[in-house]
Amino acid sequence: MRVSQFFISTLKEAPSEAELTSHKLMLRAGLIRRLGSGLYTWMPLGLRVLRKVEAIVREEMNKSGGIELLMPAVQPAELWQETGRWEVFGPQMLKIKDRHERDFCFGPTHEEVITDVARREIKSYRQLPVSFYQVQTKFRDEIRPRFGVMRAREFMMKDAYSFHANFESLEQTYQVMYDAYSRIFTRLGLKFRAVAADTGAIGGTGSHEFHVLADSGEDAIAFCPDSQFAANVELAEALAPTTQRAEPAQTMQKIATPGQHTIDEITSFLKVSSDQTVKTLIVEGEHGLVALLLRGDHELNEVKAGKLAQITAFKGFASDARIREVAQCGVGSLGPVGLNMPVIADRAVSVMSDFVCGANEDGFHLTGVNFGRDLPEIEIADIRNAVEGDPSPDGKGKLEICRGIEVGHIFQLRTKYAEAMKATFLDETGKSQVMEMGCYGIGVSRIIGAAIEQGNDERGIIFPPAMAPFELVIVPIGMKKSELVKDEVEKLYTKLQTAGIEVLLDNRDERPGVMFADMELIGIPHRIVIGERGLKENQIEYQGRCDAEAQIVPLQNALDFIQ
Ligand code: ATP
Ligand code: MG
Ligand code: MG
Ligand code: MG
Repeated sequence: MRVSQFFISTLKEAPSEAELTSHKLMLRAGLIRRLGSGLYTWMPLGLRVLRKVEAIVREEMNKSGGIELLMPAVQPAELWQETGRWEVFGPQMLKIKDRHERDFCFGPTHEEVITDVARREIKSYRQLPVSFYQVQTKFRDEIRPRFGVMRAREFMMKDAYSFHANFESLEQTYQVMYDAYSRIFTRLGLKFRAVAADTGAIGGTGSHEFHVLADSGEDAIAFCPDSQFAANVELAEALAPTTQRAEPAQTMQKIATPGQHTIDEITSFLKVSSDQTVKTLIVEGEHGLVALLLRGDHELNEVKAGKLAQITAFKGFASDARIREVAQCGVGSLGPVGLNMPVIADRAVSVMSDFVCGANEDGFHLTGVNFGRDLPEIEIADIRNAVEGDPSPDGKGKLEICRGIEVGHIFQLRTKYAEAMKATFLDETGKSQVMEMGCYGIGVSRIIGAAIEQGNDERGIIFPPAMAPFELVIVPIGMKKSELVKDEVEKLYTKLQTAGIEVLLDNRDERPGVMFADMELIGIPHRIVIGERGLKENQIEYQGRCDAEAQIVPLQNALDFIQ
């Protein structure tokens, strides 16, 4: 590509709206331009980067058995009413009306739409398992859109959904997706970590998040350097700024007396409303005190159904004294897996009950606190103090905290959506069964901001090679004046292109300093400078984006550095 036939538009200074390095650099390099709050145009240069990320994601999805489709961005309210999420999704959902006053939303995610596809198309166990995916635009009316494309309102997501005849099959695909995600982030050249995660508003059980490690990340991750343990310390969305922390006295109404209670009684003690309020239930069972954190309606339904194993739960990770302490003040830190997590215990009960213990055997899935995301003013230091140095739940060392940017999230949704939307199939015996389901998201556009957070210096962006808009740039010196330079540049340009290298030819005839600065800002991994003086010696200059200095190399070796 010749710069004269392309569009490059760089800025000396970042617009004042940008606070984060990656955001500043994306604006300065002309990858994106702001249209409105959380709304960005992908400029030609940025779009090349986006397409590279998409291509890798697609390749790995296809390799993992994913089948691509494309669903509408605008979704009818009726689907969301079927799962109850029209009411509970909250203000993140952009609701719109058509000319007939019918309700729609601009999809923040696509579980409902894909489940509708599945229930219409899948009739038999023979069609299962199946995984669909799309790369598509989502809209979420974030409380605080910021950091450019990292927390945008309109953004690009790869979302995949799998359907299964049974849980074992879901678990298998979940693992396949976990592995695919690891390959994707490795190929993209990112330093990342997979962590156990909360299932949030989407619901369901087992879940992992993939975080790009960066000090500027909005999420906190607890991990044990001596073992495999890693989890996201995520604050429930219930702790959004609109939710006031209740005063301890109100918070801790004693709503039940210790003793034997039935599930129904506990359910009515809790009276979980359809908002996103977090309820903590503290129960005493054969393993001592156990805390359950319940959020929103669906989890209550699971309590009702007696499926406590699927409830986000933790036990034995915080000391009994700690749990009592929290229970007394209503707000405090409880630890799943030795992590402390702030919770609002606005109702707590102390009861003896066996079912809770049994149900907790399979451990916990709750691990999240998203500081700075929905909860503006909690400092990471607070979490640091709370968990740094705590023993790791696997007993293999102490916990450390680092920060991450969530770039991927996989969930075992189980039957939550399929049940609500009656997505059933006939099994081998001709019996109707509800499908098991998983969902798997990647923040395709966020990845680019995250990569730049990891790769930058005072000169600009350092793209991982897999993501760079071009692999190599040729910067000619004095091309207008020198036929020799012009000829050799054209020859090399053709040679590189023939070799399949994505080469940019900076034929703007700017001052060398200007061209160098732009190409460094943009983050092109390899640069070749061709000038008359060097050519007379049959030499050119090569510099890698991370190299401190250029080196003189023979013209015929120009390709050596790139492969
Ligand atoms: P976050 O915790 O950052 O708000 P999320 O947990 O709400 O993200 P998911 O529902 O898990 O997001 O969506 C899948 C992926 O989409 C996320 O892992 C993230 O990479 C990306 N994503 C989510 N919200 C945004 C956003 N506002 N802007 C850009 N990417 C986003
Ligand atoms: Mg979110
Ligand atoms: Mg999240
Ligand atoms: Mg998530």
